[in-house]
Amino acid sequence: MPTFDIFTENVSKTYRARWGITIDKNKSGKRPAKLALDNVSLLIGPGETVGLIGLNGSGKSTLVKILCGIIKPDQGEVNCLGYNPFRQRREYVNKIGVVFGQKSLLYMDLPLKDSLELYRVVYDISRDEFNREIENLDNCFGINEFIEQPVRKLSFGQRVRGDLAASILHNPQLVFLDEPSIGLDILACDKLSQYINRRSENGKTTILVSHNVDLLSSSCSRLIVLEGGVKRIDRAVEWLKLQSLVDIEFAFNNVRDAKLLDLLFTENKCKERGELFSVLSVRSDSVEATVDRLQKACSLVYLQVKPADIRDMVSTLILGNGSMSGESK
Ligand code: ADP
Ligand code: MG
Repeated sequence: MPTFDIFTENVSKTYRARWGITIDKNKSGKRPAKLALDNVSLLIGPGETVGLIGLNGSGKSTLVKILCGIIKPDQGEVNCLGYNPFRQRREYVNKIGVVFGQKSLLYMDLPLKDSLELYRVVYDISRDEFNREIENLDNCFGINEFIEQPVRKLSFGQRVRGDLAASILHNPQLVFLDEPSIGLDILACDKLSQYINRRSENGKTTILVSHNVDLLSSSCSRLIVLEGGVKRIDRAVEWLKLQSLVDIEFAFNNVRDAKLLDLLFTENKCKERGELFSVLSVRSDSVEATVDRLQKACSLVYLQVKPADIRDMVSTLILGNGSMSGESK
C-alpha cells in the first residue's frame, strides 16, 4: 500500500489552441500556447486536507484535472491512490469524488434523487448503504428538503449542495473540491467544513480549491500556493501562522532606554508611532521577545497583541510579497 494518496513529480501542462484564430494575417496559422502548470511536484498523505490557492489562471483547476485523470500532463509522473489517473481512469474514478463548483454532475430535468439513484448504480452501492448515506448527506447538506425537485428548479446553492452529495455518495478516499463554496450560504459552508474535518479524522484526503478564507482556515492543515503554474509555497498552516505578522499595540509613559526603543521601531514594521500610542507589526514567533524588549525600553501602560489575521495571511500568500516562502511542509 502506498503511504501517500497523491504523488506528482515535475508535472507540466501547456494548452495549445487547435487553430490560431486571429484577424492579424501575419499571425495566422500560429498555435498560441499557454503554460498552465510548470514542474509541479507534490506529496500528499492520507487524511490531509490541502488548500490549493492562487490568483485566477494560476493553474489550480489544471492541476485538479490532471489529478482526476481528466487531462494528461505533457510531462512528469502522477500517482494517486496507486493509480496513474489518466491511464487507469476506469479503475481510478470510482475511488475519488470530484466537484467543480461551476459545472454540475446532475441531470437538470430530473429530480435530484434520480441523479443520486443513477450514481448509486454507477458506484455499485447497495440499497441499504445508499439509504444510510442519503441520511448522512441530509445531515451534512440538508438535501432532503429539495431532493424531489428537478435540478433545474433548485437555487444555485441548493444545486451545489446536490452536486456535493452526488460526488461523495460513495464515501471516496480522495475528494477534489474545486471552488465548491460558490453559492453556499454560511450554514452550508460550516457544514461543508465539518464534513471535510470528519473525513480527515477518518484518514480521508481532501484537496480544496477555494477563495473562501473562512472555509480554508477551518478545514485545511496545509496550503499550496500556485503562481503562474509554479508551486510557490507548500507549507503547514501552523507554520504559516508563525511566519505571519501580528500587531502589538502599546502605550508608554516613561522611556528607560531610548536607543532600544528606536531599534525596535527600525527592526520591525512600524504601523504607527505616536507620543502616546504606537503599533508594531512583528512575526508571530517573535512577539514574546519583542514585548520583553519593549518592557526594558519603557514603562508600558497599555499593551495588546492582536492575533494573526488569517485573511491577511492568505492574501499575502496569494499576492506573494516574498515574506513567506518555501516548499516543504
Ligand atoms: P485557475 O483554476 O487557477 O483559475 P486554470 O488551471 O483554469 O487556472 O488555468 C490556467 C491557465 O491555463 C489560464 O491561463 C487559462 O486561461 C489556461 N487554460 C485553462 N484551460 C485551458 C484550455 N482548455 N485551453 C487553453 N487554455 C486553457
Ligand atoms: Mg479554476
